Amino acid sequence: MGQSDFQATTLYEFPLDINQVLNLVNNIAEGVYGIDINGKCTFCNKTALKLLRYESSHQLIGQHMHSLIHHTYPDGSAYPKDRCSQRPTLRTGEIVHRTDEWLWRKDGTGFPVEYWSYPIYDKNKIVGAIIAFLDISERVSAQNELHNSLERYRLLIESTQVVPWEYDLYSSRFTFISPQASRMFGYPITDWYRANFWESHVHPDDKINVIRNRYTAMLSQRAFEIEYRMLRQSGSPLYVKNYISVIRHNDQPCTLRGVFADITSDKLQQEQLRLAAVTFETSEAIVITDPDSHIVKTNNAFSEVTGYRADEVVGKTIDILRSDQHDHAFYNKMWHDLKNNHRWQGEVWSKRKNGELFPEWLTITAVRDEQGETSHYVAIFTDITERKDAEAKIRYQASYDALTQLPNRKLLHLSLEQATSAAVHFQHTGALLLLDLDEFKIINDSLGHRAGDKLLVSVAKRLKKLISAGDTLARIGGDEFAILIPDLGADLEWSTQYAKELGERVCRSLDDGFEIHQQLIHLSTSIGIALFPNGTTNADDLLRQADTAMFRAKANGKNNFLCFSPEMQMAVEKRLSIQSELKQAIDSDQLELYYQPQFDHADKLVGAEALVRWNHPEKGLIPPNDFIPTAEQTGLIISLGRWVLEDACKTYANWCLSDLQPPPRISVNVSSHQFHQSGFIEMIEGCLQRNNMSADKLELEITEEVLIRDMEKTIDIIQQLKDLGVYFSIDDFGTGYSSLGYLRNLPINQLKIDRSFIQNLPNNASDALITDTIIAMASHMGLQVIAEGVETAAQLAFLKEKQCDFFQGFYFSRPLPLAEFEQQILIPK
Ligand code: C2E
Ligand code: MG
Ligand code: MG
Repeated sequence: MGQSDFQATTLYEFPLDINQVLNLVNNIAEGVYGIDINGKCTFCNKTALKLLRYESSHQLIGQHMHSLIHHTYPDGSAYPKDRCSQRPTLRTGEIVHRTDEWLWRKDGTGFPVEYWSYPIYDKNKIVGAIIAFLDISERVSAQNELHNSLERYRLLIESTQVVPWEYDLYSSRFTFISPQASRMFGYPITDWYRANFWESHVHPDDKINVIRNRYTAMLSQRAFEIEYRMLRQSGSPLYVKNYISVIRHNDQPCTLRGVFADITSDKLQQEQLRLAAVTFETSEAIVITDPDSHIVKTNNAFSEVTGYRADEVVGKTIDILRSDQHDHAFYNKMWHDLKNNHRWQGEVWSKRKNGELFPEWLTITAVRDEQGETSHYVAIFTDITERKDAEAKIRYQASYDALTQLPNRKLLHLSLEQATSAAVHFQHTGALLLLDLDEFKIINDSLGHRAGDKLLVSVAKRLKKLISAGDTLARIGGDEFAILIPDLGADLEWSTQYAKELGERVCRSLDDGFEIHQQLIHLSTSIGIALFPNGTTNADDLLRQADTAMFRAKANGKNNFLCFSPEMQMAVEKRLSIQSELKQAIDSDQLELYYQPQFDHADKLVGAEALVRWNHPEKGLIPPNDFIPTAEQTGLIISLGRWVLEDACKTYANWCLSDLQPPPRISVNVSSHQFHQSGFIEMIEGCLQRNNMSADKLELEITEEVLIRDMEKTIDIIQQLKDLGVYFSIDDFGTGYSSLGYLRNLPINQLKIDRSFIQNLPNNASDALITDTIIAMASHMGLQVIAEGVETAAQLAFLKEKQCDFFQGFYFSRPLPLAEFEQQILIPK
């Protein structure tokens, strides 16, 4: 710039010479130019040329500076006229100073400037202005840089998942908290700046811990981390982690700086992992493999079941457990299911580390990744050895008797079906023997069930010795056994002979008795034999035939055997017809009581036993032995017994009212079933009342079977009736339970010696001894004794000699119809 460029209209007295001034003005950092009142450039310094990128002052002088260097803002918007800083100066003389001005260079680029405009006066009149401008590009870019970095920092803070903060320990309040806090916790940011906000929003359960940790960390001068729960505005807890550093002033902690990090999902994940770990360690064995069956992980139960530690199997294939018990088809099906259903379940035999095979219940599930590809297989299994054993046991129990371990009725039935069809097919014969132990119930009841069980086991053992391989010995009921001989050859006669001989051997094998609890128990059995295929091949029919024969053998005096015959079948049918007719008989007055007198030493009538008869419309008079057992089996004995009692009492009441002298007592037989029927006492009482009969006129004959059934209850019933005055006699004494000891506890009045002992008197020494003993013992116990079945004078003489109290039998009189009894036995009053 030349000297002529500077047209100073002096306002000031420069203390320098003009050259110095020009030099100074040309080289200062600010660009300077002058304008006249019209805004046209009058001069400019070098710096202005340089900054505006003009080569010479001529290019500017005379130019309208406003349009030349003030175009638009950088963003393109128009530069407002009044914003033009030189105008106010030219108009009003205002000195304008701006820090955010923008000028345009010759090349069209813009740059920020700090700008001053001063008026030039000539004789107090504004004639122009001097403008100075300083390029502030660097300052602005530094400011921009700072602004940008602050903005980046802000964005960074606001976009991270952590919430930075600063906390003043003296005022107990946050001095800074990232706005993120409101998103994380829900509270408005302003709330955070309240005193004690932090402390009051820590989860109550964690508060003490947080405060203690904070305190300790501050003392130890370390940065520290704490994890705890904060309460969200919603009330739900939020797991946070704080990374905190302590700022000190004069060595005293004054400020805390740190961040909140939301670790709730980590915590939940940890919890899930913990749960998964717990679940993984269940009682069921778990093994996880990769898709190629390589073991990835196992649990403790796996080790317990297989014997392998985890480190022994991880990396190996699952084949390590293979038992080779299953064929290819089995595994093919398993893989097919896994591929298609992603799951397989079933029973598998596997091999333990020690080589032992074991059954397991296995569930395999294919775990798939997000692409649907199988990433793992999870196999869960339980060792079902015990269950298998139990199943086998159940199967065994279903077919075998638990006590004797012999096949039970079900298995016998099955074997019998097979044997009969084989017999038909191969044209041979076989035999079925059905054994029923005689009087076992009495033994069982009196010795106790444990002894009874022992006895049954001993019997089973003894029977087993008698049968050959291929034969079956089964226990088919409480005291019932069966022997099945499936093949005895073609000759029926020989087979029958063999079966009978076996029956005989069985009977004899029990003769020796059994020692149970240091007591020798005598036992016998009745056996029914059925041969096959003799008329039937049906297992049920055969069992029925053998049962019929057995029943008959029992009726024939027990301790023997019988082969089934068609006659027996008829007898069975007879029994069945009796059953249906008897019911009718009770209702339609076909029953009749006969009376048999009882006498004392002086032939004085002491009693009359009522004995029932059935006047069958077609079959004539049927004796009680032909229908009482059926009545007992079918329960008809209850109504029959009630009828007998009512009729006997009525008869006795009539005698009392008649002019005949009634016997001191009338005795009625009571069966075991009847005695133990509930309401028995009331039934007796009712009957006595109805007939206005005194209880001491009634005698009840009960058998030993009644006594054995439930001793305590029996004693109670007898005692109650005895208290009323009823007289009790034990009928058929000596045939049942042979011990006399139990009599001591019984509140009875009389023993009635069974006629089987009487009939061989006086010559049979053993019967004589038994009779003698019974009489002696009874008298010792204060019981009276009556002998039944007295048929001869010799018998009577013997009994009288032995001090038997009373007598009954054909020797005196047969049982008589009522009218005859009244006529022949009773005498007028
Ligand atoms: P029980 O109570 O022992 O009756 C005596 C049986 O011996 C009677 O047979 C009687 O006729 C018979 N008897 C009497 N004296 C002699 C004799 O000197 N020699 C021979 N050989 N037999 C003689 P009955 O009347 O055929 O009765 C048989 C059994 O039927 C009775 O035996 C009794 O157990 C039962 N019974 C009879 N009537 C009834 C009844 O009303 N209810 C019940 N529950 N059972 C009855
Ligand atoms: Mg009797
Ligand atoms: Mg009798």
